Amino acid sequence: MERLVIIGGGLAAAKAVERLRDEGYEGSIDLVGAEDHAPYERPPLSKDLLLGQDTDPTALADDWWAANDVRLLTGVRAVAIDREAQAVELDSGEALPYDLLVLATGAEPRVPDLPGADHALYLRTLEDQERVLAALRAGGRLVIVGAGWIGLEVAAAARHHDVEVIVLEQADLPLGSVLGADLARHLLDLHRSHGVDLRTGVTVEEVLLEGDRPVRVRTAQESIEADHVLVAIGAVPSVEIARDAGLEIDDGIVVDERFQTQDEHILAVGDVANAWNTALHARIRVEHWDNAIRQGRAVADVLLGREAHHDWLPYFYTDQFEFSMEYVGRPGEDDRLEVRGDVGANEFIAYWIDAEGLLTGAMNVGIWDVNDTLRAMVGTRVDPEALTDLR
Ligand code: FAD
Repeated sequence: MERLVIIGGGLAAAKAVERLRDEGYEGSIDLVGAEDHAPYERPPLSKDLLLGQDTDPTALADDWWAANDVRLLTGVRAVAIDREAQAVELDSGEALPYDLLVLATGAEPRVPDLPGADHALYLRTLEDQERVLAALRAGGRLVIVGAGWIGLEVAAAARHHDVEVIVLEQADLPLGSVLGADLARHLLDLHRSHGVDLRTGVTVEEVLLEGDRPVRVRTAQESIEADHVLVAIGAVPSVEIARDAGLEIDDGIVVDERFQTQDEHILAVGDVANAWNTALHARIRVEHWDNAIRQGRAVADVLLGREAHHDWLPYFYTDQFEFSMEYVGRPGEDDRLEVRGDVGANEFIAYWIDAEGLLTGAMNVGIWDVNDTLRAMVGTRVDPEALTDLR
């Protein structure tokens, strides 16, 4: 019997095992996850759950694993891959032999090289979410370092809990490189209108501690008192065991369009994979929910010997105050932006068009059931005059 081992108990891993068993895969499956939980979805960690709503983020029902004969090892870390012996060494001391190995080790929060920063809050796991929610419920002043998607979602949740929040962003605008200056300014204004003290062009230099507890954030300009400090400056792919095993690393584990590393027995998917995308003719690493689902399913198809490859456009979504959106595609920074609809009402569609007139990306804000239409348009030549808000 073929022995499949998957390292990393996140969404990509869950979607892979689900598809494999749904489609009749007969090999043995061991899934090794470092967290103490069965795989779960992370988007609610900075949204519903942080707002205090009762949402179950679990990816597969508790009884799914035994019913589908998948051995789930939680709270167990893979510490080394012996490619010659085709075995994974676990921190429990066990050595797991494999015929095929899928690496779905995801990403972890980027910790800045600043004094005190390792004592701040971060948000990646359920335990992190519980700590952040406890901080919001305790009240006081929250200082967030980084106005990326997660930093801004936490800022919105903080205001929901009526917590004073200061967001410190190094760039001149939040998410300016993704949204373009005009829409980034719109997002900035939206946050400020809800009482978020969002300060841009600010470089944080130190998190000052009392004992282990952050009490101040020092920037180039000032020193800000804080009851809680959250650092949200992005994530880095968890490549350590892959690197130690000699696999090619370049911003993630390098894989082809069928998620294959240079070792024919090892594949990689999800946040950790820098995969060739046949639609974009580029290698991309995508840190999004939709990508983890699609790549998990696609690698299952590859393992089942089916026709499957990485050919879809990146997609993600966010919810912050009245700004709820879906975004599809991969615009270049110099692409032209065309907006249709009502930006002030947060009901509009943004279109990005490259120098050759091709639509490279689109974002629907507050207008729903149109993302598939937008997805189909991306990559095609568009007449800007004919673009509408699709309502
Ligand atoms: P992960 O979810 O990171 O799972 C990898 C797992 O592997 C982890 O549990 C890790 O502990 C484990 N692991 C790592 N190394 C080892 C090892 N050596 N041995 C054993 N286990 C190991 N995306 C969106 O599109 N929209 C959103 O709104 C959105 N919101 C988000 C909010 C938050 C707070 C976060 C953190 C992410 C959000 N994302 C969102 C991103 C999305 O959740 C990720 O893209 C997705 O979780 C990636 O899944 P994955 O399985 O590749 O990796």
